[in-house]
Amino acid sequence: MPAKLIRGDEVAARLREEMVAELETLYEETGRVPGLAVIIVGEDPASLSYVANAEKAGASLGFNVQVHRLPEHTTEAELLKLIEKLNFADEIDGIMVQLPLPRHIDSYTVMEAIDPEKDVDGAHPLNMGKLFSDEKGYIPSTAHSVMRMIEFTLQPLYGKSAVLIGRSNIVGKPLSLLMLRRNATLTICHSFTQGLPEICREADILVTAAGKPGLVKGDWVKPGAIVIDVGVTQLDGKLVGDVDFAAVRNVAGWISPVPGGIGPITITMLKWSTLEAYKKRIAGI
Ligand code: NAP
Repeated sequence: MPAKLIRGDEVAARLREEMVAELETLYEETGRVPGLAVIIVGEDPASLSYVANAEKAGASLGFNVQVHRLPEHTTEAELLKLIEKLNFADEIDGIMVQLPLPRHIDSYTVMEAIDPEKDVDGAHPLNMGKLFSDEKGYIPSTAHSVMRMIEFTLQPLYGKSAVLIGRSNIVGKPLSLLMLRRNATLTICHSFTQGLPEICREADILVTAAGKPGLVKGDWVKPGAIVIDVGVTQLDGKLVGDVDFAAVRNVAGWISPVPGGIGPITITMLKWSTLEAYKKRIAGI
């Protein structure tokens, strides 16, 4: 039997359901909607597609989504000035800077400039530290979305073997901490990992975020495993994931497609965190 699909639109719809009623009540109380500023510098195709979708999805929930599209030659000082303005903007509750940034801009300096209370994508070192210390803070939306996708399958994580391909600050590292919180046993792989197929074959849950189309083959997957494809690469005008979907679907128990998997969830998850930031600002905490 082919694997069941973890469809992004279904997971995102559940998240929206959680938000809608609360949004209506809060709007009646405050007369203001949550505000999210998304900044993109340059022309990275995957980022442009993500930001366009964020704009569309923003309107659907009645958020005030401001997209700031800056040219590739934007200086670090110009970007920092915009972030400072948004940090003080009353109508903005969340700020997200899309990665990757052009090489002449230092990502760490930029993330450090975001007000940690508006850092809804968990990129500020303070929020990263909170995640590391198991404290409440903002979590990178992609990692948070993967956790929601696993919850969607209703399969428990505790005691399971999870393999993550990729160790970036926005996916692999935060996800490993979230999975540890849920008592999974983790293996984190990267481009220097030896014997990747054998390691993957041991995984009850396999998450790939390498950005390498077709990396994960059918015979890399344990029968019945949950396979989540975070990879998004533009290939011949189409968005493709890291997983050989046709082959893996015949082996896995659950699988997320690309497109139509993590993409719509990440955007909704970013709004979910923006709603949290908005509530905190209203409550003055
Ligand atoms: P990244 O910073 O480039 O990290 C990629 C990771 O994959 C690195 O840790 C790298 O290892 C590892 N890797 C690359 N090739 C590998 C291979 N052949 N075998 C094993 N590991 C390998 O990328 P990222 O920002 O985390 O994004 C990863 C992918 O997810 C991209 O396709 C991106 O577009 C996608 N993404 C999607 C969303 C979404 O919501 N839809 C959000 C974020 C990212 P090293 O550390 O050794 O270099």
